[in-house]
Amino acid sequence: MKYTRRKYYVNTEISADRQVHREDCPHLPPPDCRKYLGEFYSPMAAVVEALKTHPSAYHCKACTPE
Ligand SMILES: [Zn+2]
Repeated sequence: MKYTRRKYYVNTEISADRQVHREDCPHLPPPDCRKYLGEFYSPMAAVVEALKTHPSAYHCKACTPE
């Protein structure tokens, strides 16, 4: 697997799960419903970052399957 730096976001909608999405995910929430996490080489690193502020965060299966 090739590791590329990607931008990741966490869903911050009130009623939604705290899913972590890659910048090119088809389920990426609109700009006012997401928080930028940063650029990471792996989805898990992005989830770890999201967990610091959103303890229930988990990765989106559509864009970060592993
Ligand atoms: Zn996603």
